[in-house]
Amino acid sequence: MSFLDNLIANTIRADVRAEKGYHVPDASGYIKLDAMENPYELPRELRRELGERLAEVVINRYPLASYATLKERVCARMGVPEGFDVLLGNGSDELISIIDTALARQDRRAVVLAPYPSFVMFERSARLTGMDFVSVPVKEDFTLDMPAMLAAIAEHKPVVVYLAYPNNPTGNLPDDADVVRIAEAQGEHGLLVVDEAYQPFARKSFMGRLPQHPNMIVMRTLSKLGLAGIRLGYMSAAPELLAQFEKVRPPYNVNVLTQAAAEFALDHVGVLDEQAARLNEERTRLQRELSALPGVQVFPSAANFLLVRVPDADKTVDKLLADRVLIKNLSKMGKLLSGCIRVTVSTPEENSVFLNALKASLS
Ligand code: PMP
Repeated sequence: MSFLDNLIANTIRADVRAEKGYHVPDASGYIKLDAMENPYELPRELRRELGERLAEVVINRYPLASYATLKERVCARMGVPEGFDVLLGNGSDELISIIDTALARQDRRAVVLAPYPSFVMFERSARLTGMDFVSVPVKEDFTLDMPAMLAAIAEHKPVVVYLAYPNNPTGNLPDDADVVRIAEAQGEHGLLVVDEAYQPFARKSFMGRLPQHPNMIVMRTLSKLGLAGIRLGYMSAAPELLAQFEKVRPPYNVNVLTQAAAEFALDHVGVLDEQAARLNEERTRLQRELSALPGVQVFPSAANFLLVRVPDADKTVDKLLADRVLIKNLSKMGKLLSGCIRVTVSTPEENSVFLNALKASLS
């Protein structure tokens, strides 16, 4: 054992040493359909204007602690209810970790609960903050198994339930009545985070219903709307709750360039909404074309990606890679997802490259 091996064994937590880490493949030269990004850029004229704005940003000072201007913009543009505020994060990934850091207990293990399959960060963050993670399998059609969810809530008394609305990687939107039942089951003993990362495509939200559900947190991101690179997430909840999470938020977690770019983008959010509408049209086209293919099953999606079951997922993924198309192979993630791949909806041209490669893999 080298000095460093010993040092690591003596210092880094065993569960962290056992972690594999979150690996993102190098995508240069590939058509990137694996991360639910918006393939469209801001129009050139707007990018030039943004460049001019960014040139004026003061970068020798720390960001203003309150983020007041950006928060006002977010509240005004994103339907945050009157009297409710937002907490900003470096992507919603950071918000999940802020929430979990505030909830993890030193004296006894707290439980985080989410359906399976769902967004991987729910589990990763729970484990890294030292909490137990309980996952409740969805039904074969990927809808929530409500008797099992409610039984698991009664048994494990989770401090928080995470629900992605729509869900990743399945794409479907949980039933509103089920979301409400879970919030009610959590009551005053636990939170419910409704993760609305794909809201620009689903166009449905619990944001306006926050005042009725004091244990609910609605979380959103600008990533899927077309700003994945600037890393901005936000969450809204009862001000008393947000004040607690504020204490955990790392100071200056949203840098001045991100703030300026987000303010600018929110002033032009119509352009981004229009891109999302185009992607929704392409989603419909992809769904139609995929469902006409023999042996291919495409599931309903309210997001900017599709879950697709193919006869031989490994063969399809290999063919797509050979044609330099990156998608997510989910076929090894348990029985529910056997044969499944997840593909981001992109431009008509990129979607056609994907479709052709997928068709070729079926022969
Ligand atoms: N929530 C869900 C459900 C997601 O699928 C993703 C992205 N894969 C995120 C949150 C992460 O968003 P952000 O880029 O804001 O960290």
